[in-house]
Amino acid sequence: MIIIMKPTASNSELNTVVQTVRDLGFDVHLSSGEARTIVGILGDTQRLSRSRFEVMPGVEQALRVSQPFKVASREFQATDTVFDVRGVKIGGEQIVVMAGPCSVESRSQILEAAHAVKEAGAHILRGGAYKPRTSPYSFQGLGEEGLKLLAEAREQTGLPIITEVLGAAEVPLVAEYADILQIGARNMQNYRLLQAVGKIDTPVFLKRGMSSTLQDLLMAAEYILASGNYNVILCERGIRTFTRYTRNTFDINAIPALKQLSHLPVIADPSHGTGKWEMVAPIAKASLIAGADGLMIEVHPHPAQAWSDGAQSLKPERFAELMDELRALAPLAHRTL
Ligand code: PEP
Ligand code: MN
Repeated sequence: MIIIMKPTASNSELNTVVQTVRDLGFDVHLSSGEARTIVGILGDTQRLSRSRFEVMPGVEQALRVSQPFKVASREFQATDTVFDVRGVKIGGEQIVVMAGPCSVESRSQILEAAHAVKEAGAHILRGGAYKPRTSPYSFQGLGEEGLKLLAEAREQTGLPIITEVLGAAEVPLVAEYADILQIGARNMQNYRLLQAVGKIDTPVFLKRGMSSTLQDLLMAAEYILASGNYNVILCERGIRTFTRYTRNTFDINAIPALKQLSHLPVIADPSHGTGKWEMVAPIAKASLIAGADGLMIEVHPHPAQAWSDGAQSLKPERFAELMDELRALAPLAHRTL
């Protein structure tokens, strides 16, 4: 069982709840966020009654959640989570498109990409400054210089920015610049990193690990939520299968499944999900119809010269065409774009 304290609950109200739980012979796990505290009751809580806690001062709700992911589950919250990033609503009626290059490479590259995706109607600019590369000899990203260039692109276009944070130690620095922190597939189960981004209130974009089940993904999200950050976005970016023709196998099932299991926004990444630019548009359109709350799409002004993921990056013209198609499809999914 979990007990959700009101945002206005005082320390003494919280202490009384905790002491009551302990007196009943249970252990307690406290998740203190900026907005509110959640008291997790550990152990077999079948014999506890919810109403016993719901009458206590400072308590908003006591909930019995059967899923192992508690705060992430639909049982915890029936309505979709919607939150605002610099005026862009994530998880609402409007499909949110995050677009931009895989990596920030230079000032001219990121500014050109930013203006192009803005022109085509994207809502958020993506670009990696810290890159999780398979080889230590590959381009690792521009680091803080890349963050500064993203901030300049935001200033010029008004687009909020999403960028990856690779390690817990870098969270404060990346959060100084980023409007959304991306946790990449390779880091989905880096629990120290999940806890670190859970302790701040910058929204987190959590990508599914390449060999992770949906439950693994939701349990990873739970780490962030349990640390107090409720602004989490789930991302399906394809998984490893025996198929070699595509880079990954995009799991279209994940979209309706995650929407059933969780109230968190779900975004599809057909770029990493396929690894081939020709396949990005069909999978983007399928994702929208499957119920995705948004899309992440790699766009590069000159894909052939990209320092990473050129093969799956759209040219600006193709991205603009895709946006037109998505706009036409959105009403079929009862969405706007
Ligand atoms: C990326 O978004 O560029 C990226 C590295 O993605 P993933 O973690 O899904 O591989
Ligand atoms: Mn990439």
